[in-house]
Amino acid sequence: MRKPLLFLLVPFYLCSQPRPAPKSPKLIVAIVIDQFRYDYLTRFQDGYTGGLKQMLDNGADFTNAFLEHIPTVTAVGHSTFLSGATPALSGIIANEWWDREFHKRVTSVSDDSTQLLGASGTGSSPARLLQSTLGDELKMSGKGGKVIGISIKDRSAILPAGHMADGAYWFDGKTGNFVSSTHYFKELPAWAADFNASRPADKYAGKNWMSYTAPTKADATLYGSLDATPWGNELIEQFARRALEAEHMGKGDHIDLLAVSFSSNDYVGHKVGPDAPEVRDMAIRVDKLIGELIAAAETGAGAGNVLVVLTADHGVAPVPEVNQARKMPGGRVNAASERQAIERGLASRFGEGTWVDDMSDAGVYLNRQTILAHKLTEAAVEEAAAESLRALPYVFRVATRDDLRHGAISADQVGVRMRNGFNEARSGDVIVILNPYWMPGASGTTHGAPFSYDAHVPLIFWGWGVRAGRYDRNVAPNDVAPTLATMLNVETPSGSVGRVLEEMLQPTAK
Ligand SMILES: [Zn+2]
Repeated sequence: MRKPLLFLLVPFYLCSQPRPAPKSPKLIVAIVIDQFRYDYLTRFQDGYTGGLKQMLDNGADFTNAFLEHIPTVTAVGHSTFLSGATPALSGIIANEWWDREFHKRVTSVSDDSTQLLGASGTGSSPARLLQSTLGDELKMSGKGGKVIGISIKDRSAILPAGHMADGAYWFDGKTGNFVSSTHYFKELPAWAADFNASRPADKYAGKNWMSYTAPTKADATLYGSLDATPWGNELIEQFARRALEAEHMGKGDHIDLLAVSFSSNDYVGHKVGPDAPEVRDMAIRVDKLIGELIAAAETGAGAGNVLVVLTADHGVAPVPEVNQARKMPGGRVNAASERQAIERGLASRFGEGTWVDDMSDAGVYLNRQTILAHKLTEAAVEEAAAESLRALPYVFRVATRDDLRHGAISADQVGVRMRNGFNEARSGDVIVILNPYWMPGASGTTHGAPFSYDAHVPLIFWGWGVRAGRYDRNVAPNDVAPTLATMLNVETPSGSVGRVLEEMLQPTAK
C-alpha cells in the first residue's frame, strides 16, 4: 500500500477532537401572545419599554415568520409552537372538531378521563396531541427538569407544555382560580392552592381600564370578565412568577421550561379589532409584563442562563366595517349560509337526508351513513358539496378530502397551508377558505385564514446561545422546536417539520 493513502485514512479519527461538553441554558421561557400580529411590533414600537423592547434590541428578530397551516387559530398555533408539527402531523386541527367515532364535538384538549383540580368538572389533557414537544424530548433525554405551561386558556397552557409536563395551569372564570387536571397530579401543588387562596382576581373588582369598568363584586361575573381585560394577562404573569419561584425553576442541574401564553390580547382583539386603541394599549401592557417575567427568570437562573423565545399563535383580520370605510375589501357572511348551501345542494342532487354532521374551522363533516344509504361514493358527495360552496360569492377556495389525499390542490401558499392543516383521520371532508378579509360573525373580528394578517407573527429569540440581529428571510413558527432541540442537544420533537434557524445560533450553541 502506498504511503499517501494511509496518510489520508489514519488522520480521520486521530485528528478528530472530542466534542466539548455541551453547555446549556438553565431555563427556557417560551412565550406566546395570543392574537398578536407581526405589525404590532412595528406599529406600537414607540410604546415599548419592557420585554418586547429588550428582545427586539438584543435578540434575534425574525421579521418574516408565517404560520404554515390553516386554520390559524389558538390550539393549532400553540400545538405547533413547541412540537414543530403542523396539524397534518400533530392531529391538533382546530380549537374544536367533530369526533366521527363518538359523534360529538371535542376540543383540542377535552379529556373525559380527567378531572379539574381547583374547580369542579371534567378536566383537560394533551391526549389528542399525537406528537412530542420540546419539553417531552427534554424529559425523555434525561436533561429536562421542570416543564410547566400557564395561560388563561386550557389549550394554551397544555399544548406547548406537552405530555410529560409537571403541570399545566389555566384560569377558571367561575371560581377565579388557576386550575389544572388529574392528568398531571392528584391535587394542585401547595403553592398553586396558596396562590388561589389569596384570591388574586378579587383586587380587580371595580377597576377601570380605558372606557371599561370591571364588575364591583368579587364573584363569577368579575372572574368571567377578566379574560378580556389587561388584568387577565396580569394574573397570568403573577402566577408564572409564583411558579418560577416555588418550583425553583432555573436553579437545578437540569433544563427547565416555562411556557406562558398571554390570552387577554386575543379576547380584547376579537371585540375591537387591530385598529382600536385598546389593542395598542394591550400590546404596551403585555410588553411590560414580559419584561417583568424575563427579569424574574434571570433572577432565579442567573444572568446569561435564560433562553427566551416569543411568538404568537395567529394574527387577526381588520374589522370588516373598518376595512370597508377605507376602501379595502371584506365583509361578513352568515355562518349558517354555507351549511345551508351544502344541504340544499346535496338534497336537490341526491335526495333528502341528513347530509352534514357538523361544520367548523376543521371543515364540513358529511354524514357517512347517509352517503352509504344513497349508495354514493364519499368522493362524489364531497365534490357536490364543494360545488355548492364554490357557487357562493365570498368563497375563495374549496378542497375536498379526496383532493387533499391525492394532492390535487394548488401549489401556492394557500394550497400548502391547506395541505399542512389537513389530518386524514380528524379533518372534515370539505375544507373552505373565504375570500380575504371576509369572515363569519355579526360583530368584532376573527382569525383563521391563510392570509398574512392571520399568518404573519412575531418570532424573536433572546438570551443564551442566540446571535442577535434582524433576520428577514421567510421562516415559520414550526422552526422553533427543531431549533431549540438543536441548541439543547436533544432529539427533535417527533412530528417536527421545521427548519433549524442556524443563522441565529452562536457557535457555542451548536
Ligand atoms: Zn389564539
